[in-house]
Amino acid sequence: MLTYEKALQHVLQTVEPLTPQKHPLLEATGLTLAEAVSSRWDMPRCDNSAMDGFAIADHPNEVKGPLEIVGASYAGHPFAGAITSGQAVRITTGAPLPDGANTVIPIEDAVDQKTHVSLSNPALSGQHIRHQGEEFKAGDLMLEAGTQLRAGEIGLLSCAGIEQVFACPKPRVAIISSGDELVELGQTPGPGQIINSNLYLLMTRVRECGCLPIAMGIGQDDPKALDNLIAEGMHADLIISTGGVSVGDRDQMHNALARRDFQQKFWKVAIKPGKPVLFGTLEDKPYFGLPGNPAATAATFELFVKPALNRLFGQKDITPKKRTGVLTTEVKGGGKRQSFLWCHLEWVDEGYQVAVPKRQGSGQHMSIQGANALLSIPVGTEKLRLGDSVEVLLLEG
Ligand code: AMP
Ligand code: MG
Repeated sequence: MLTYEKALQHVLQTVEPLTPQKHPLLEATGLTLAEAVSSRWDMPRCDNSAMDGFAIADHPNEVKGPLEIVGASYAGHPFAGAITSGQAVRITTGAPLPDGANTVIPIEDAVDQKTHVSLSNPALSGQHIRHQGEEFKAGDLMLEAGTQLRAGEIGLLSCAGIEQVFACPKPRVAIISSGDELVELGQTPGPGQIINSNLYLLMTRVRECGCLPIAMGIGQDDPKALDNLIAEGMHADLIISTGGVSVGDRDQMHNALARRDFQQKFWKVAIKPGKPVLFGTLEDKPYFGLPGNPAATAATFELFVKPALNRLFGQKDITPKKRTGVLTTEVKGGGKRQSFLWCHLEWVDEGYQVAVPKRQGSGQHMSIQGANALLSIPVGTEKLRLGDSVEVLLLEG
């Protein structure tokens, strides 16, 4: 059976970044730049004061004052003229330095006598000035292509006058739920029925990953009904279904996909949970058939769908980040399959500790809540002991 590594390679070879387009800066949160961005102007725009105080034209070691206060330069209200030796201008942080001034004396180091000011403490010539272009100059490279836009980057681009960025858009993700036993939240499940809880987990996770989830509804275990939902899902950039991909009599996802031009890349991977995961393309759009058991749905989302979403976004770092930590409990391996257990990674004293809930039934949601990582246990590892050093995959947004 295909290993996780090989299966993931198929995903990464198949999925291409979405076509980049322009986005207003405030709608670009989380997007990845498709082209480098250069500044439109110098920053600071002009020499200005780094302190509230007085701008002077003399060398502070040569003159202690009193200097005549000839005006003020406030942020947003520059001083109109120029100053010469013996003169000073009141100045606030960020206000343009008046022509002729070379040094700023902070309020704390000055004696303000309203019409005149004297220096009360030693000062350095040229101090407390932010020079034009000292942060960056017009035309300087601000951010490289491939940079993910977070608050720091968006703030920086705004100050460089960048109103729009060129980036792959947020992937739209259609989520199809399959199963005769499923009812929506708001209904009380009858005998044999359960809430379509995978939908709630996936909708939330897709949103956390910065994408746009679209709930397609519940399809009965019937190829025609599922095919109809797939047809509607084709408006999205990526399609996920849950349930119906295993080998049971009522698993109808394969039959539904057979009704259209589905290019299967793999079915079944040597992982636990999530063995029956199915992947391929529908009219060149990535399709993932995730197994229905909640822990399997959630794990295969992290292991396969999340990297695919990162690729659609045009990100450079596609696969989950790894950390090494020390186990706080004993855990069992998955035999011939690589096994993945929900766990909580925490920095304690001088290193990471990995706590693994005991109950990890693939049909259960309980172990997923509170998890911030997946513990990966290699094929053939029977058991890991308390204190063993282990590798975990981080669950990031
Ligand atoms: P399946 O993959 O269709 O064989 O389903 C495996 C298990 O997952 C069954 O117990 C299903 O009831 C359950 N299941 C399937 N879909 C969902 C869903 N959307 N939400 C919660 N559980 C589900
Ligand atoms: Mg089913």
